[in-house]
Amino acid sequence: MKLRKVSAAAAAALVLSITATACGGGDGDNEGGSGSGGGDKIKIGIKYDQPGLGLKEPGGFSGFDVDVATYVAKELGYNADQIEFVETKSADRENALSRGDVKIIAATYSITDERKQKVDFAGPYLLAHQDLLIKADSDISDGTDLNGKKLCSVAGSTSAQNVHDTIAPKAQLKQYSGYSECIAALQSGAVDAVTTDDSILAGFAAQEQYKGKFKLAGLKLSNENYGIGVKKGDTETVNKVNAALEKMVKDKAWDKAVQDNFGPANYKNEPAPKIGVIVPPKQ
Ligand code: GLU
Repeated sequence: MKLRKVSAAAAAALVLSITATACGGGDGDNEGGSGSGGGDKIKIGIKYDQPGLGLKEPGGFSGFDVDVATYVAKELGYNADQIEFVETKSADRENALSRGDVKIIAATYSITDERKQKVDFAGPYLLAHQDLLIKADSDISDGTDLNGKKLCSVAGSTSAQNVHDTIAPKAQLKQYSGYSECIAALQSGAVDAVTTDDSILAGFAAQEQYKGKFKLAGLKLSNENYGIGVKKGDTETVNKVNAALEKMVKDKAWDKAVQDNFGPANYKNEPAPKIGVIVPPKQ
């Protein structure tokens, strides 16, 4: 996985470029970034604790979402050193966009009708499926009744919602603010399974410290269409991000990001989705 960081030299260059383009204008810091033509910097919401998707490490940020966000930002007129990544936890995403804390969000953010009431989405740029992560010796498998089982997921996620609504309404559902906390609960035996997107679970399972300890159950419990979240009504940004995503697939940068980030986890991703085509939550 590649790391992205802002070097001192790049930061210095940024200061110079801001000075040089000070008259260019932007729409202010409270909008998560300047307007269409680049300029100072752009704030992008990502996850900080999801290996292979959005991960904050001592040397910078890595993951598929980080690579997609970086590509999109470039198309919007911002170099990698003009990006400020901000943590947007599952339950905070709609508010972060409404408040203008970030310009866009690339954080395993599924497009849903409910969320579309509050935010707009570009994409989709990845199709994932809800699954279970269980201990390597667990006997949970396809057909196991999950009602009564201790499951862990994250507040504000479609994964937790789906457990409540359809998957196992009578499960004992523990909800944390991030998936890394659920992984710790699985390791300690406090829960029987962690449930969320297979893309996320595969990333955790491949971590050196968990190798051989956990496995994915391999259940496709839902369709999760990842979109780039944008402030409600900002059609201009939606259109630009869609064009960027289309270009990313066409010039194979999307394939490279998949290879770089899902390769190590051996995650078998779905092919690149078509922009604007949403696979219904359950087929
Ligand atoms: N993709 C799902 C969602 O947007 C689960 C992953 C997450 O919590 O980010 O809710």
